[in-house]
Amino acid sequence: MTDPSDQRDQFDAADQPVQPEHTETDTRERESPTITASYAGKRVLLIQAHPDDAEFVCAGTIARWAKEGADVHYLSLTSGDKGSSDPAADPVKLAATREAEQRQAAEILGVRSVAFLGYSDAMVVADLTLRRELVRVIRRLKPDVLLCMDPTVRYVGQGYINHPDHVATGEAALAAVFPSARDRMTFPELLAEGLEPHKVAEVFLFGAQNPDVWVDISASLETKLAALKAHTSQMGDWDPTEMIHTWSRETAERHPDKPADFGEFAESFKYFKLD
Ligand SMILES: [Zn+2]
Repeated sequence: MTDPSDQRDQFDAADQPVQPEHTETDTRERESPTITASYAGKRVLLIQAHPDDAEFVCAGTIARWAKEGADVHYLSLTSGDKGSSDPAADPVKLAATREAEQRQAAEILGVRSVAFLGYSDAMVVADLTLRRELVRVIRRLKPDVLLCMDPTVRYVGQGYINHPDHVATGEAALAAVFPSARDRMTFPELLAEGLEPHKVAEVFLFGAQNPDVWVDISASLETKLAALKAHTSQMGDWDPTEMIHTWSRETAERHPDKPADFGEFAESFKYFKLD
């Protein structure tokens, strides 16, 4: 019979703050910063704040994995109902438009489902109510892989303040993965709903300023662009092609150990393997 105190010790060890030897530069768990593994047959959940977030930052990876046979699902916390500077814009109509645009983008990418939690745009807070909502989704869907925004990015350089919804969404998603979705005794009301604990095996943070893995998206870049252009209410007359090409090329150039056969365009992530 297992001594319950042994289990407790295991949990305590897992929950300790990161030790000095496990720094961001610790690469013992990985052989290469290039993600080449196939995600065929894996269930992938992407959590974003607004329709179009994923298309800008990581849709090349989504398109690649979906084409390989991954089972990809999107969850958008808001429907982007503040995403207009038109004085005549109606937030309810705008939300419906943006949900439709997101569904079309997802179809282009090969994403199987898109869900919206109905949070108000620009009002997302990483509180326990949101964390429980995300734990509920994770325990229902049981993803192998989760993508969310890097919650540590509050600003970049002197010209970019990150949207607070992006920070809050990343924080809530990461806190839902670890430890709440995993832990039986957290949110017992979810157990009462029949939702058993679930461990997510891999996490990719998009928009990371200190990425440690790179995905070659050269073969899926055009699909990414087509999906981004589906967000017509946000694109207006602007063609994002040049900007996305430049971003993706610069990302590939920052790969610290690029294999000879690595393509021209990449997306990068902060990566965690949690088993
Ligand atoms: Zn956004």
